[in-house]
Amino acid sequence: MQGGLRLRLAVIDYDSCKPKKCSYECIAVCPVNKSGRGVAIDADMASRGKPVIYEDACIGCALCVKACPFDAIYIVNLPMELEEEAVHRYGVNGFKLFRLPIPREGQVVGLLGRNGTGKTTALRILAGELKPNLGRVEGGEPEWDEILKRFRGSELQTYFRKLVDGKLRVAHKIQYVELVPRRLKGRVRDLLKRADERGVALELAEQVGLDKVFDRDVRQLSGGELQKMLIVAVLSRDANVYIFDEPSSYLDIRERMRMARLIAGAARPGAYVMVVEHDLAVLDYVSDLVHILYGEPGAYGIVSKPYSTREGINVFLQGYLPAENIRLRKEPILFRKPAPEAQPAAPGGGRQASRRRIVGWTGLRVALDGFTLTSGEGALYGGEVIGVAGPNGIGKTTFVRTLAGALKPVEGAVYPYVEDLRVSYKPQYISPESLPDATVEQVLKAANPAILAPGSWLNLELVKRMRLDKLLERRVRTLSGGELQKVAVAAALAREADVYLLDEPSAYLDVEERVGVARAIRRIVETREAAALVVEHDLMILDYVSDRIMLVTGEPGVRGHVDDPRPVKEGMNLLLQNLGVTVRKDEQTGRPRLNKEGSYLDRMQRARKLYYAV
Ligand code: ADP
Ligand code: ADP
Ligand code: SF4
Ligand code: SF4
Repeated sequence: MQGGLRLRLAVIDYDSCKPKKCSYECIAVCPVNKSGRGVAIDADMASRGKPVIYEDACIGCALCVKACPFDAIYIVNLPMELEEEAVHRYGVNGFKLFRLPIPREGQVVGLLGRNGTGKTTALRILAGELKPNLGRVEGGEPEWDEILKRFRGSELQTYFRKLVDGKLRVAHKIQYVELVPRRLKGRVRDLLKRADERGVALELAEQVGLDKVFDRDVRQLSGGELQKMLIVAVLSRDANVYIFDEPSSYLDIRERMRMARLIAGAARPGAYVMVVEHDLAVLDYVSDLVHILYGEPGAYGIVSKPYSTREGINVFLQGYLPAENIRLRKEPILFRKPAPEAQPAAPGGGRQASRRRIVGWTGLRVALDGFTLTSGEGALYGGEVIGVAGPNGIGKTTFVRTLAGALKPVEGAVYPYVEDLRVSYKPQYISPESLPDATVEQVLKAANPAILAPGSWLNLELVKRMRLDKLLERRVRTLSGGELQKVAVAAALAREADVYLLDEPSAYLDVEERVGVARAIRRIVETREAAALVVEHDLMILDYVSDRIMLVTGEPGVRGHVDDPRPVKEGMNLLLQNLGVTVRKDEQTGRPRLNKEGSYLDRMQRARKLYYAV
């Protein structure tokens, strides 16, 4: 037998499977069925005519995988030993999770991995919201005794024992904050009071600046405000298990730091804290240990052994897990910056000198009802990406609308170098309710029909690489937050424009997707000689995506000042100085790491005014 006995996994993505639009090619090609000696794949009336694969009979030839016109089938061969470690499976041909992260008392355990590899599933099991079926979907679900036996001798057994005996109280911050206004009604103050078992909610709320919106109804909150409200509500519970699923989406950098400190503080003696996070600077800061989830998104996920945070993040970026001898991807994710001479210099010189100028501005003052925006001097050049750092409500959109001529400054001037400057905008917050009831294909086609032409560079860049081809027929209102984000970014980039304004394109995306989006932005602006302003609160991605950095400072909702675009290093240094934190470079991967406050490096870098030592 070749390579020993393998565990065969057949998973069908029922969202992609469309028996009305195919001729059951999957069933027609199956050699087991054709031989007449058995049935490996069959149309199942219980699942509306969609196929079911019987793993016992299937020989894993993968002919059905190749035959399906909608890429709906995965056939995976895994080491047989894993079968002993199956934790949960969603249905006969559903996603399967192997192993679990191990919660540790008094510590923060971070989870890192691609979307669709089972992080939320693992958290729901550890929260006691989903009873694990040990991968058994037929023959009755296992009793807790059997589940406890499975984890015998490990810390998980102790944990589950406490969970089953009702000794663990769990507080769980869900991933998609947009869903909250549908479930919770009322004012922020009242909701927080209800959650406040520890008598800390109002104080925490003030610390994160939520006091300004105490009297607002939850339906009026922005994404960032919802996020902060939920985090404060969870921290206010008198629980011993605290779970945070993507706590930094929609928060600006300063808010991320505050939130990370609060979450780290929840790891009191006797309390378990678990966090899923794709902003690696935040994950690094907040976690004591990390588990990496790997596998085939949508088909199966395996939880790695625990790694120290630094090592875990590094091996994840390098794409190879030494403890399990597993390669995650062909290429490492690198954060090496181009050599200094290749970096753009100040306006008028360096790389921009040879580039198409798009629009310039000087000394702007824009007065809106209750909000004033001012600016220094600068210009945007074709082919460059400007990373924009600044809180929500500070005037970034107002600035771009002024450049486009939609708002008139009362002082200063805008110098357009192209006629009728076209702007394409991806807003920060995309609530499903605000979307048309259309399919992904219709949304993309409306942005630019060329994106759908197979083989075109737009199609390759924005549909194939972002893996949107499988979503084309889905209605946008049914998409997950991460899927919606990719569609919104692709639509914004597909439009023909001179300036792209992308407000937090990385929210809900995993690390690979963030890097993929950053590359797509870069290719689009270079090919079209356009400029992009990318509002980014993930430090690593901000550094990665930017040719220059522009800071917007002031008081959100009252006044904002747009600083002149600066070289990346200088911009990052000023940004961190304003935030009062220092960052060092990880020697192995080049990624930025936040220094702990008061640590030796922190004090040394502050003394030298070296806030960004990367
Ligand atoms: P992650 O949090 O890593 O993105 P999830 O745990 O949310 O991953 O999901 C892993 C896979 O499990 C997804 O591909 C999804 O298709 C599948 N899945 C999640 N919940 C269910 C469910 N209730 N029923 C069937 N499949 C599910
Ligand atoms: P950002 O893009 O940085 O989140 P915006 O430019 O959208 O910020 O908004 C900055 C501030 O200006 C906000 O307080 C917003 O409410 C206010 N604002 C935006 N447009 C108008 C307008 N047309 N009239 C009055 N106030 C406005
Ligand atoms: Fe058709 Fe593919 Fe579904 Fe089979 S799996 S029924 S080929 S869409
Ligand atoms: Fe049939 Fe081969 Fe598909 Fe298994 S992998 S269901 S044997 S075609």
